[in-house]
Amino acid sequence: MVLYPNYVTLHRRSRLPRFLPSEDEEARIERFQQYLRIQTAHPNPDYAGAVSFLSTQARSIGLETLTIEFKPGKPVLILTWTGSDPSLPSLLLNSHIDSVPADPAHWIHPPFSAYRDSDGRIFARGAQDDKSIAIQYLEALRNLKARGFSPLRSIHVSLVPDEEIGGSDGNEKFVASEKFRMLNVGFVLDEGQASLTDEFRVFYADRLPWSLIVNAVGAPGHGSKMHDSSAVENLMECVETVARFREIQFDLVKAGIRAGSEVISVNPVYLKAGTPTPTGFVMNLQPSEAEAGFDVRLPPTESVDFLRKRIEEEWAPISRNMTYQLIQKGPNRDVTGRPLVTATDATNPWWSVFTQAISASGGKLGKPEILSSTTDARFMRQIGIPTLGFSPMSNTPILLHDHNEFLKDTVFLKGIKVYENLISDLSSFHS
Ligand code: ZN
Repeated sequence: MVLYPNYVTLHRRSRLPRFLPSEDEEARIERFQQYLRIQTAHPNPDYAGAVSFLSTQARSIGLETLTIEFKPGKPVLILTWTGSDPSLPSLLLNSHIDSVPADPAHWIHPPFSAYRDSDGRIFARGAQDDKSIAIQYLEALRNLKARGFSPLRSIHVSLVPDEEIGGSDGNEKFVASEKFRMLNVGFVLDEGQASLTDEFRVFYADRLPWSLIVNAVGAPGHGSKMHDSSAVENLMECVETVARFREIQFDLVKAGIRAGSEVISVNPVYLKAGTPTPTGFVMNLQPSEAEAGFDVRLPPTESVDFLRKRIEEEWAPISRNMTYQLIQKGPNRDVTGRPLVTATDATNPWWSVFTQAISASGGKLGKPEILSSTTDARFMRQIGIPTLGFSPMSNTPILLHDHNEFLKDTVFLKGIKVYENLISDLSSFHS
């Protein structure tokens, strides 16, 4: 489309003037930008810099701070506001400090500049995932302190390392620690995702990642000979069967019967076979081994036994000289053997307080969802603590891990108000 200068001028003139932030709001945005400017991307996140910044902020608000390293150089920062009845289960607000890398070549503003454009868009790696919520938690707590609010239940904030690389030296160790047990956590809010509409999204479960590796063997042979059950032929059979299963799952999504995160996704990620030469492959030899790798994501509502049975009987049957490895990338059942799902009905008293607080803040909530990827929330759910994934970002493109990740200043400020309602209600309720 050609944009004529006149059109641009008219378009600009007809636009509503941007809001003018107060001095106080401007200071909050500035603190968000300061945090975004700390280089927290892998492979060398500046955890010390981030923890020092966040601790200073927390102390200025009047929160207690504690830094623990379960692994040297991987600090977990815990902030606490003790409630008037600390014997009651507490509220925990979790956020990871680290970010995925960003290639500046693909960004219109440097990814650690936190540049704010004339539309109020703040560009930075971590603007959505998930440095926004850390500062929103802090700013909401700052407001509550200033208002003279006194929580009944203790409120904790945990700022953890390594979520983006699996969390094994971060939240996994923290949740398994004596310190975590001492916090007596009753309910957790963790990161969610942006929403394209004016409804906030909320996640009650994560899909669980698995790696499936299928190995096929067969008689080697001359390239000219057709014979049954060669390794590659066996593997092709496997790939075709998996493709049919994938299509059925995908059709459910395309027909709108299930959300993308509610089906088992299976995607081939590599195929390995052949006898290499310096310039290519031996062409007149059928190899005796072949291998395929698949990324499998299982909603917690589906059973692992069902998947194993499928693999054993249809995808990689031993009768066709195939073996497989199914590698679990995290827990899929809690300590009592139940799926890692947080109830979003009357059985979970925190849920109704959560939903009421959202409406009281003027926000709308979409239908609870399963997250198609994974977060640190799974470690809390594994020990049976109700945990919701929630980031108050409505009318915002979903840019986590993407180039030009940004969050608008107005959305950021509105989120602080939402958390103020959430934190005051969740920390005050008597069960
Ligand atoms: Zn994240």
